Amino acid sequence: MRKKIIAANWKMNLTYTEAMTLTDTLVDSSFELSPAEVILAAPFVYLHDLVGRIQSQPSFSIAAQNCSSEEKGAFTGEISASMLVSIGTEFVIIGHSERRTIFGENDALIAKKLKVALANGLIPIFCCGEDLQQRNSNNHFNKVEEQLHNGLFSLDISLVSKCIIAYEPVWAIGTGVTASTDQAQEMHAFIRTKLKSKYNASIAELIPILYGGSVTSKNSAELFNCADVDGGLVGGASLKAVEFLSIIQSMNNLLIEKK
Ligand code: PEP
Repeated sequence: MRKKIIAANWKMNLTYTEAMTLTDTLVDSSFELSPAEVILAAPFVYLHDLVGRIQSQPSFSIAAQNCSSEEKGAFTGEISASMLVSIGTEFVIIGHSERRTIFGENDALIAKKLKVALANGLIPIFCCGEDLQQRNSNNHFNKVEEQLHNGLFSLDISLVSKCIIAYEPVWAIGTGVTASTDQAQEMHAFIRTKLKSKYNASIAELIPILYGGSVTSKNSAELFNCADVDGGLVGGASLKAVEFLSIIQSMNNLLIEKK
């Protein structure tokens, strides 16, 4: 079975104390060992301390929300993949729609970041997804295919096999509007067919595809129950311990049922 993953994307939220308290609450929570993997994508300045705080929970890992496309050097204000690895970060979100739209990251830059991250041992969570206009004009499949083609599919098979994909329709991010289970399943299945035609069937079977966009404890169980949805990338709802724990629990319940 593919890995099942619940990833939190805190974005630029939470003070240091709030972030540590939230993490301690998640780590100390009721479940002994979560069958689903839990990834916390936090602001850079908290990563080192968070790595220390999750040590007692083997199913937890820490992610950065971005990294530089450059290895090292005169890039003031940037954080490199090797710096992230040197403090115990295991994952990095690459190509989030907020990086694409607000910070102007294009497919070529994202492809470069993927390669630098992987070369340094970070596992990318590659984000893709269409905006509302593309969905309304029935161009959503074309858009996602283009992002895959120009970004993830620049990797060779040995590297792509390490990656995680997050399908995040832009119209669902932070809006309270969630893709329906049919919309999510349809796009996840589409991405899997593209993985199969670009690489092969076992790669398509192996790579976890997370859904992101207004996931909450109310819709998580039905989304995670879709055949090709392997978990979630959760923004707003990951900032509150009780809410995020119940999203994790909805995946764990499905995993326990299927055992
Ligand atoms: C995100 O930013 O990755 C996200 C999915 O946000 P939200 O859950 O708040 O829609």
